[in-house]
Amino acid sequence: MNTNKKVLIIGAGIIGCAITFELQKKGYTVTCIDKHQKVGWGSTSNSTAIIRTCYSTVEGVSLAYEGTFYWKNWQKYVQTNNTSNLAQYVECGMTQIMAPDNHWKKVLPIYDQLGIEYQLFDSKELISKFPFMSPSSYWPPSLPSEDNFWEESTQILPGAMYAPNEGYVTDPQLAAENLQEASEKIGAKFILGQSVTDIIKDQKQVLGITLDNTQNILADIVINASGPYSFIINDMAGVKSDMRVSTKPLREEVHCVPAPPGIDIQKLGSSTSDNDNGIYFRPESGNMILVGGGKSPDDKEWIEDPNSFNRNITESLWKTQVYRLAKRIPELQIPNEKIGVVDLYDVTEDWIPIYDRSELDGFYMAIGTSGNQFKNAGAVGYLMANLVDKCEHGYNHDENPLTIKGKFTNLELNLGFYSRLRNINKKSSMSVLG
Ligand SMILES: Cc1cc2nc3c(=O)[nH]c(=O)nc-3n(C[C@H](O)[C@H](O)[C@H](O)COP(=O)(O)OP(=O)(O)OC[C@H]3O[C@@H](n4cnc5c(N)ncnc54)[C@H](O)[C@@H]3O)c2cc1C
Repeated sequence: MNTNKKVLIIGAGIIGCAITFELQKKGYTVTCIDKHQKVGWGSTSNSTAIIRTCYSTVEGVSLAYEGTFYWKNWQKYVQTNNTSNLAQYVECGMTQIMAPDNHWKKVLPIYDQLGIEYQLFDSKELISKFPFMSPSSYWPPSLPSEDNFWEESTQILPGAMYAPNEGYVTDPQLAAENLQEASEKIGAKFILGQSVTDIIKDQKQVLGITLDNTQNILADIVINASGPYSFIINDMAGVKSDMRVSTKPLREEVHCVPAPPGIDIQKLGSSTSDNDNGIYFRPESGNMILVGGGKSPDDKEWIEDPNSFNRNITESLWKTQVYRLAKRIPELQIPNEKIGVVDLYDVTEDWIPIYDRSELDGFYMAIGTSGNQFKNAGAVGYLMANLVDKCEHGYNHDENPLTIKGKFTNLELNLGFYSRLRNINKKSSMSVLG
């Protein structure tokens, strides 16, 4: 559908870049803005980029399943012949340890319903598939500062659920660049190294943005895709009064350790969710392992100002995550050097994003990605472009939430699930698992 409408997207992370590509394809005139000098330099660059479908709800699993196909078809999707500069999808599988929190039991019937491929391993099959792993149960996860952390486990895991078609993306920042290049080829523009400092509007309609307090750019449509800064942009737009869910930045750390000597983790390992032991991990290039997820639910570090937070690794969390990993992978050698990344999730109350319009006509949001939406970026770009297009042609999404068919899976993706007007979704895990 051709349209002369001008769109400004605030944020050139993976989500903003994906929306840019899809809206430009629809014939809108799109400019994507970021205060960083390069796209994907926000939380996208430090994403672990695990691609998995094990969410708690049918809607969450459906979107993640649809999202997986964008990565499987990445080169074709971003329309390039340049394979040397392309983010790679590593299909090493996703292992979900059967933990007593029973998350896997929520997921299993949804996989059956949607026809998602999986295998169930008992503990013997688990260690036959991953001989470097211990089949012991460590539930409930404890801390190295507690005596029981060091006690020998007498319990064995029931097993694991393994989804063979999942894995991780090698370079999340490069994936955003791939989308930038694809968007520019079809006419989209990027303004990098400048900040949006205000939203211009009248009583009913968004009119544009102000850049660096100096330059106004007018537009018909503005989209907030600013990641952990989303609450600040929503404040500028004055669109919070009807929202039943809000967003808040949460500090997170992911650490990087060498795989045990003699174990080729990129060949043998999978992305793994180990709730039994309070961590997740995946192989990383250079025969390294990334490990995260070790914060306990009552020890969250909410951040007031996303421009100012501690970017240094915390020794105690490093110990928790790495030592827990050493319990699951007993031959792991604890390194002296503490390497890792520190960044922010943009979290909603139910850890489900907000992909929606707002009370201000022309102002939309793709926010609250809650540490789990890198994988969905392609599908989110597609959903947001369709949502914008429908609303701009008069559709009342607030009264009658849109359902859009996924273009790879044909699954019905219900955008009402991501509405700003929803009540907190009690089916969610209320965690990064979504
Ligand atoms: C440590 C970590 C691990 C993660 N692991 C996974 C995982 O394994 N799998 C998964 O699916 N997801 C994961 N995630 C989540 C995933 O990375 C995010 O959901 C996703 O990257 C969010 O992308 P985004 O584009 O919304 O945000 P961002 O990448 O943060 O982009 C927002 C952009 O907006 C810009 N911006 C903000 N304010 C302004 C302004 N005023 N003016 C101009 N520009 C502005 C910022 O500079 C930034 O570049 C992880 C996240 C983190 C932090």
